[in-house]
Amino acid sequence: MPGNILLVEDEYALRMTLGDRLRKEGYTVDAASDGEQGLAMARQLPFDLIVLDVMLPRLDGFTVCRHIRAAGLITPVLMLTARGRTAEKVNGLTIGADDYVTKPFKMPELLARIGALLRRAPTRPEAQSGVFEFGQVRVDLPATEVTVNDERVNLSAREFQLLRFFLENPGVTLSREELLTRVWGYQASTFTRTVDVHVSGLRQKLEAEPKQPRYFLTVQGLGYKFRPAAEPTSP
Ligand code: CA
Repeated sequence: MPGNILLVEDEYALRMTLGDRLRKEGYTVDAASDGEQGLAMARQLPFDLIVLDVMLPRLDGFTVCRHIRAAGLITPVLMLTARGRTAEKVNGLTIGADDYVTKPFKMPELLARIGALLRRAPTRPEAQSGVFEFGQVRVDLPATEVTVNDERVNLSAREFQLLRFFLENPGVTLSREELLTRVWGYQASTFTRTVDVHVSGLRQKLEAEPKQPRYFLTVQGLGYKFRPAAEPTSP
């Protein structure tokens, strides 16, 4: 299933090699050589995926990613990080990147990650109609109705608000503090346990295996993240 890819990479040789290879795989590729140009293209043109280098002139990859998410774009972002820089990976995922590949990478690995991201990318019409589906779960936001396997599920008002916030921020790591502020309106960080309890509630009601969640994921040490489609199983 080919798609349109935006490639933001300042290294000329890598931009050319990668671009050629992706086109050979059937993708349409537009390339940008710095962060500002990449961000402008991401805002103006519809892409199915963005491959974003971290070290870029003018605007670094993190800043570009943050602006992309702030603009409400849910396009999957795959970041290219420097080898062994764990902080970069964590930072990238926190600000809304969907995955990362460490440089230098092997082409088959990158292609596999791109394929996986495109397969689980949320479709826009769902977001616009306010009806979301993931796995056996169907959420109709305007009707405040949630079903699992066509059976009505009763959520508390707060659980529903939390679910809506997750749906509106797919793939973004959300800290407990942020969830408290945005869903509960609390400023204090002393009630973070409340968030855990409600996420646990959503898992119990919506996940097939609440102890091994596929959609409402814990991001160790950071918070939670909603994945609109299940993680691909490792080969
Ligand atoms: Ca670079």
